[in-house]
Amino acid sequence: KTVILKADNLKKHYEVKAGLFKKPKLVKALDGVSFELRIGSTLAVVGESGCGKSTLGKLLTMIETPTEGNLFYQGAPLAFTQSGEQLRKIQMIFQNPYSSLNPRKKIGDILSEPLIVNTQLTSKEIKEEVLGVMAKVGLKAEFYDRYPHMFSGGQRQRIAIARGLMLKPSVVVADEPVSALDVSVRAQVLNLMMELQTNLNLAYVFISHDLTVVKHIADEIMVMYLGRCVEKASTEVIFSNPKHPYTQALLSATPSLREKNKQERIRLQGELPSPLNPPKGCAFSARCMHAIDKCFVEAPPLLELKERSIACHLIQS
Ligand code: SF4
Ligand code: MG
Repeated sequence: KTVILKADNLKKHYEVKAGLFKKPKLVKALDGVSFELRIGSTLAVVGESGCGKSTLGKLLTMIETPTEGNLFYQGAPLAFTQSGEQLRKIQMIFQNPYSSLNPRKKIGDILSEPLIVNTQLTSKEIKEEVLGVMAKVGLKAEFYDRYPHMFSGGQRQRIAIARGLMLKPSVVVADEPVSALDVSVRAQVLNLMMELQTNLNLAYVFISHDLTVVKHIADEIMVMYLGRCVEKASTEVIFSNPKHPYTQALLSATPSLREKNKQERIRLQGELPSPLNPPKGCAFSARCMHAIDKCFVEAPPLLELKERSIACHLIQS
């Protein structure tokens, strides 16, 4: 399958004032992330909050501009200042269906808006498009004139997904699309997303803090820690043979996966370090139970091995 979206060494750095008389500090929210996303496939981006995954989402949808690095859509570089056709092909589904839908607008108006702003369609054509997309995501036509508060969380997330599909994107960036939902409705929304992917040939960048959520939907998983990719591999390899100590710890945090792999729970020492004060050497060194002297001095490069990319001094082949 051909690559639809390619990220090349994306960085987002910004300065934060540390106090009146102190020098501002440079925060590296994202520090050199690259990947290739293929047509109709899913890349999951996984890590704890503060790892840079939401920043990455904002760069991919051009809500923010990178400090460095490039994005390519179908091989052509995306200019971050531009608007138009290319931009419409990458859409975002936001995290919280409770806060991301305007409570004063009817569903029909919420879904019409992207078409009013971006196309020349007549109001009749717009209504047809909206009803068509509503049907695709399992929303009844009679919901057209209702308001968001009349719906459950799962229905609202369907509305948010419908809104993301109005401009017929090829790539959808979904930032924690099921995290705010009850466990019982998560599977329904994930199944809907997979069904839409097949029917519309969508590529997803699926951002999540939870590996179990992405297990069935992702083709590839990129694990991030403090702004960098630490391990990237197929979903199968990540679940059956994780090599980075951080990936192993994330997996072992899930009881069902732990049993399957007959593992002990790996307890991470300490908290995620602040991006304001990242550790020297490997960013994971302060919490890693395998750390060697070198880890505290030198940051491991991301190596491209046969089955995976990985950044760890202990894994060289
Ligand atoms: Fe742990 Fe060292 Fe590997 Fe970092 S480089 S993950 S500290 S073993
Ligand atoms: Mg986030």
